[in-house]
Amino acid sequence: MTGPELSPAASVGRAEPSPAAAPVGGSEPASALGGGSEPASAPVVVRALVARASGAELRVEQVRLPAPGPGEVRVRIRAAGVCHSDLSMVNGTLAARFPLVLGHEATGVVDEAGPGVTLAVGTPVVLNWAPACRACWWCRRGEPWLCAATTAPTVSRGETDDGVPLHLTLGLGALAEAVVVPERAVIPIPAGLPPEQAALLGCAVLTGVGAVRNTARVAPGESVAVVGLGGVGLAVLSAARRAGATTILAVDVAEAKRELALAAGATDFLLADDRLSKEVRARTESRGVDHAFECVGRAATIRAAWRLTRRGGAVTVVGMGAKDDMVSLGALDIFHSARTLRSSVYGSSDPDREVPVLAAELADGALDLRLLVSGTIALDEAPAAFDRLARGEGARWVVTLD
Ligand SMILES: [Zn+2]
Ligand SMILES: [Zn+2]
Repeated sequence: MTGPELSPAASVGRAEPSPAAAPVGGSEPASALGGGSEPASAPVVVRALVARASGAELRVEQVRLPAPGPGEVRVRIRAAGVCHSDLSMVNGTLAARFPLVLGHEATGVVDEAGPGVTLAVGTPVVLNWAPACRACWWCRRGEPWLCAATTAPTVSRGETDDGVPLHLTLGLGALAEAVVVPERAVIPIPAGLPPEQAALLGCAVLTGVGAVRNTARVAPGESVAVVGLGGVGLAVLSAARRAGATTILAVDVAEAKRELALAAGATDFLLADDRLSKEVRARTESRGVDHAFECVGRAATIRAAWRLTRRGGAVTVVGMGAKDDMVSLGALDIFHSARTLRSSVYGSSDPDREVPVLAAELADGALDLRLLVSGTIALDEAPAAFDRLARGEGARWVVTLD
């Protein structure tokens, strides 16, 4: 696993303002990031995981990132998770623009700071894919996860090696050696955290923990069902356990998830088949659970979560689905069941406040994310990890770069 050259001779790979910028095919290292002794002004060429079109094969390519402008930083990525939303960008579930750099769940180190930036170079950070503007109506009423400024699934920035304008997943494009982002899209964390775990704080863990703590507000003694056991679902499971839920039912279509679910804190694993509602009722005195968490993002699983929930209970939709996947519920059922159906966007959290809390929990051992990491892989292995994700294998595959 060879990483980029980060030696002081880091002018290798710097893009010049001419077509001769990229060192492709040369005998020199494929890419490099800035050394720090030079003025903060030059674009850089880095390796990144790129989808050229919807459904196209993923490839690691060299891309050109601009120098950080006013209020922007360049972050050298140390670890980045492969999240289901990245897959949704590629397979057409979410509307994306191409060519697209994937990745939005990562940790790294501030490598270069543009004018006016207060964060010091060398600061370890977690990336935030929904940086709040702190000025819009939602931010002012304390709901920064709904910030009006962060609605686009992709943001234009940089270009491919052959000069095509590039788009970045959720404004980050973090499955890359580096990103250039606004300073408000990074959150400082303590040094020394395991990068493959710290990366997950930026999406799966913040989302899963927030869904339990902020959106559903699971209380001690309550019962919980979690439908869909990917990275987010497992984070929901362990957060429910930590919140004091006593019946925690893990639901997935894959029997292979059983062991992982029980290790993450489930009291029972149930296969998502036609006996599911019966099995859940058998474990909840025939009522159904107080809280069901849908962590897939499909109408069918939202309906399943709805059916598993008791009268007066709450269904929290954590998965991000497609806009044409319609959920159908009976009008009488909605009235009679008195259930609440709501979504949890980014864990209804304020990442600037909550990521440091989670990072501190990770540092002192209260939060253990080792189970969530199925394995660490090189950037070149990321396309294969997308295939495994599509097949529902494992929890989180994390690309590490060092
Ligand atoms: Zn994600
Ligand atoms: Zn805002």
